[in-house]
Amino acid sequence: MHDVVIAGGGPVGLFLAGELALAGCSVLVLERDDEIGSPWKALPLGLRGLNAGSAETLHRRGLLEAVIGASRADATKVGAAPDAIEAPAPRDVSHFAGMGLDAADIDVSSLPFRLPGPAMEGFMTSLEALGTVLADHASCVGVEVVRGAAVTAVTRHDASVVVTAGGQEYAARWLVGCDGGRSTVRRLAGFDFVGTEPLFTGYVAQVDFADPDPSKLPFGFNPTANGMYLRTPFEGHLGLMDFDGGAFDRSQPPTREHLQEVLRRVTGADVTLNGVRRASSFTDRAMQVTTYRRGRVLLAGDAAHIHSPLGGQGLNLGIGDAVNLGWKLAATVRGTAPAGLLDTYTGERHPVGAAVLDWSRAQVATMQPGPNAPALRRLVHDLMSTPSGTTHVYRRTAGLFHRYDLGGEHPLIGCTAPDFRYEDGTTVGDVLRRGLGVVLDFGDGHALEPSARSWKDRIRYVSGPPRDALGLTALLIRPDGVVAWADEHAPDLVTFERAAARWFGGPEI
Ligand SMILES: Cc1cc2nc3c(=O)[nH]c(=O)nc-3n(C[C@H](O)[C@H](O)[C@H](O)COP(=O)(O)OP(=O)(O)OC[C@H]3O[C@@H](n4cnc5c(N)ncnc54)[C@H](O)[C@@H]3O)c2cc1C
Repeated sequence: MHDVVIAGGGPVGLFLAGELALAGCSVLVLERDDEIGSPWKALPLGLRGLNAGSAETLHRRGLLEAVIGASRADATKVGAAPDAIEAPAPRDVSHFAGMGLDAADIDVSSLPFRLPGPAMEGFMTSLEALGTVLADHASCVGVEVVRGAAVTAVTRHDASVVVTAGGQEYAARWLVGCDGGRSTVRRLAGFDFVGTEPLFTGYVAQVDFADPDPSKLPFGFNPTANGMYLRTPFEGHLGLMDFDGGAFDRSQPPTREHLQEVLRRVTGADVTLNGVRRASSFTDRAMQVTTYRRGRVLLAGDAAHIHSPLGGQGLNLGIGDAVNLGWKLAATVRGTAPAGLLDTYTGERHPVGAAVLDWSRAQVATMQPGPNAPALRRLVHDLMSTPSGTTHVYRRTAGLFHRYDLGGEHPLIGCTAPDFRYEDGTTVGDVLRRGLGVVLDFGDGHALEPSARSWKDRIRYVSGPPRDALGLTALLIRPDGVVAWADEHAPDLVTFERAAARWFGGPEI
């Protein structure tokens, strides 16, 4: 019997599998598709924006350089410059209903506790590049992946879950559904999935234009009276959003005739499609499960929440779920988890997902046909053109500024840890690679060492001053990079040990 079976080897399932195996769990991934690569995952159709928060998470597992390298290689395969994936400023990965941000307007003084590091900005990747790196990493840490194995049944017992996939049965102590927006696990395990119905149907396609001249159909996001279209510099890559009330029958791929009609209606331009190489559809249906755990079954990524791709947040949200869940589920498997730890997964991640759903609904509200949305759009545009408006949107979308409500007085508690750098060049991101908690003791008296050693199998102790301590004397960082405790004075052993016991179990205070 495996400790954990993960249904779905998309980016979220693979990242989670790596987290669990790194922490010593036996992990089996059951993936429906036979192959990791496909034209849907490669550029241009598999183009995805990773925000700075996801870049930071990858950096903390030593995967950032590999993902950037694979993304560059993918860009060259489709004839783009390798740096087409890079984001010299937040404007390239962060937008609100197609309205970009101007990096120069970000008020950095209102973003405290940030230090320069390798993961300051997001970048563009492809599902194939990301998936390949995550699959290699998962395999290196001992994850078993079975492909061509679609999960079709789930039977729950008191101490285990039995999953049927590809005609075989697999038993595990825990099951995590990472099987995407149409999750089978979500349905079979009886999760409530609630939210709002769509106003538009979206299309992403690779097409052959009769006349590819961009003067008729300019590049970038283009709002129109009937929706919006996106044209990227990748050849024939087109996105359309058509306010049809979500009426398109999505059980069929869109035909050339249908896309031609939608293209003319949405753009108002006399543009002819000679052919459609591939096309698929999506909507702005915004739904979320009411809890991320039912007994021994958990959900992460699109299986737990769906919304429109506007502003590119779903993948980032899913990676955030996985890094939050991995160490908690591993500690539960090992038997070291303090009471209630696993339920903090829903407690912390559900509000983040709900906020992204709202962000996606707010964008849709500025795009609807009729006279009201353009007025709202002008208002949002004006607000976004101010330093505080730009900073607000950046804070909401960069993935770096969320604060979990963990209690505690210091403003860093519940936030992602700054990437402190030591004289030898080592950063906190490097120290977190093993997926353990970390105590940073910046004083030279090793004040926390004897106590921190009591959790030595779960917490790594690092002493000495970094180049810039930002006024702090000590921190306790969870394996997901979130600050659990921080001090600015002579470290207080009582509050430190209380925080360590709260997140890592162990000695009772
Ligand atoms: C056009 C478009 C653009 C987007 N752009 C962005 C962006 O720029 N930034 C961003 O953050 N997000 C973006 N997203 C969203 C992002 O693609 C998803 O949120 C992300 O892929 C979710 O990852 P996942 O692993 O949860 O699910 P998926 O990527 O859907 O992976 C699920 C996996 O489960 C497998 N599976 C399904 N059913 C079963 C089963 N029964 N048994 C076993 N395996 C199964 C599937 O084969 C798949 O491999 C975009 C989405 C779209 C449609």
